[in-house]
Amino acid sequence: MRLLTFRSESGTRAGRLDGDGTVTTLDAPDVGALLASGADWRERAAAAAGPRVALDGLDLAPVVPSPSKIICVGLNYKLHIAETGLATPEYPTLFAKFARALVGAGDPIVLPAASREMDWEVELAVVVGRTVGGADAADAREAIAGYTAANDISARDFQRRTAQWLQGKTFDSTTPLGPVLVTGDEIGDATDLELTCAVDGEEMQRGRTSDMLFAPAELISYLSRIVTLDPGDVVLTGTPSGIGDSRTPPVRLRPGQIVTTAIEGIGTLTNVCTGSAW
Ligand code: ZN
Repeated sequence: MRLLTFRSESGTRAGRLDGDGTVTTLDAPDVGALLASGADWRERAAAAAGPRVALDGLDLAPVVPSPSKIICVGLNYKLHIAETGLATPEYPTLFAKFARALVGAGDPIVLPAASREMDWEVELAVVVGRTVGGADAADAREAIAGYTAANDISARDFQRRTAQWLQGKTFDSTTPLGPVLVTGDEIGDATDLELTCAVDGEEMQRGRTSDMLFAPAELISYLSRIVTLDPGDVVLTGTPSGIGDSRTPPVRLRPGQIVTTAIEGIGTLTNVCTGSAW
């Protein structure tokens, strides 16, 4: 099943994307609210027969617009660790983002005027489907609602100002999330999917989730032993190699460029970069 959140005149709505390209409106304002509405969300979403709209022309919001937590994993692909020259971590490298960083699948990425070093990071994002704490790997797998695509657009200069990365990772309107959440029954455990990122049509990243150091279920288990995860929480699982920062000379994003982020079996995000007022 493929779920999405779209904007309408009366606010956002959750929808189910059907095989014929139409979207069936669900009884929830967004996918996060759907996941939080009770353990039987899968059955209700699958059975829904609400008003139908065409996918074409829909204005997509971040698939989960306001997660209670957005947790990100750095240095999680072996080839990316190699290109950064950093040591292979023994434990997941964690940082957070706030919901204001999120944008939809076709929204602009707002490059902050304060940064001169904006960079791309295609990432598989895991969406939590139920409350889970202290989970082993099997429980963690069960707690995953599904997977979506993200781009962890990063301000490298701010990221490097201090040992903590957060300030380079959560500028407003910098992280596309979507276009759809694909449930686990359709995509499996997402441990061998191809991910790509292109800028103005030039391929910058191409990797496979099989290169991950810590797989999605392992990450959910690890995180759930630190903090109880809630329905709609989003975990960005790290980026493969090919970031602009590791090139010689480094390559940066500029206003006007188009970032295309794609994951096999999930879909594509197409976002134009704009400048910010401050
Ligand atoms: Zn990242």
